Amino acid sequence: MSESSGEAFPGLEERLRGVRAGIADACRDAGRSPEDVDLIVVTKFHPAELVAALAALGVRDMGENRHQEAQEKAEALSDLDLRWHFVGQLQTKKARQAARYAHAIHSIDRERLVDALVDGDRVIDAFLQVNLTEDPARGGAAPEELERLAERVLEAPALRLRGVMAVAPLDEPASAAFERLASYSERVRALAPEADAISAGMTHDYREAIAAGATHLRIGSAITGKRPEPR
Ligand SMILES: *Cc1c(COP(=O)(O)O)cnc(C)c1O
Repeated sequence: MSESSGEAFPGLEERLRGVRAGIADACRDAGRSPEDVDLIVVTKFHPAELVAALAALGVRDMGENRHQEAQEKAEALSDLDLRWHFVGQLQTKKARQAARYAHAIHSIDRERLVDALVDGDRVIDAFLQVNLTEDPARGGAAPEELERLAERVLEAPALRLRGVMAVAPLDEPASAAFERLASYSERVRALAPEADAISAGMTHDYREAIAAGATHLRIGSAITGKRPEPR
């Protein structure tokens, strides 16, 4: 590995290797190929230097959950060939700006957001975020809104519908919640067979997510280490 990344962020390479090994194990247990599972490293609150160190270790897919921070990092690191995944709540009025740097938006949760992204110069991967709880404050569309939202995305020239996304609830075993998510994925695929991606699985539940069919893991602290306080 490059010396600089090791010195600036001790343990980063080892943690990355550990998580990759954990993913491979979970895939083996689930009878799946690790090649069918994409790792997005969530770098929120960490400095651009840490993102650059991850890039030097071969990571290309980075996750961020705040527009301004993501925009600054994307700009600072524009010479690296990175793919930015927006995974947080996105304000409608910030959507078009996010569309300039984002490769994917995992948090499409309402029609107004789709309307804001309907046209643009680049095509962005779109994941429909589903709320797996009864609490609207937890983010995501209610399951009964999924079909309508999917149809809206399918009509948007600048969006490519990839599938569904969710965060596991705090008060329920992740595996049960991710089974529901898999059933929502089936509903979306009934409308759009190619939209077969499932974005699920974080530091504490990625094994359960892999068992339930996740194709895009969003893992932060297990790789980056403890997050600094948000700015
Ligand atoms: C922060 C965050 C993650 C990563 O969380 P970890 O527990 O650090 O792995 C994944 N998804 C979303 C939506 C997040 O906000």
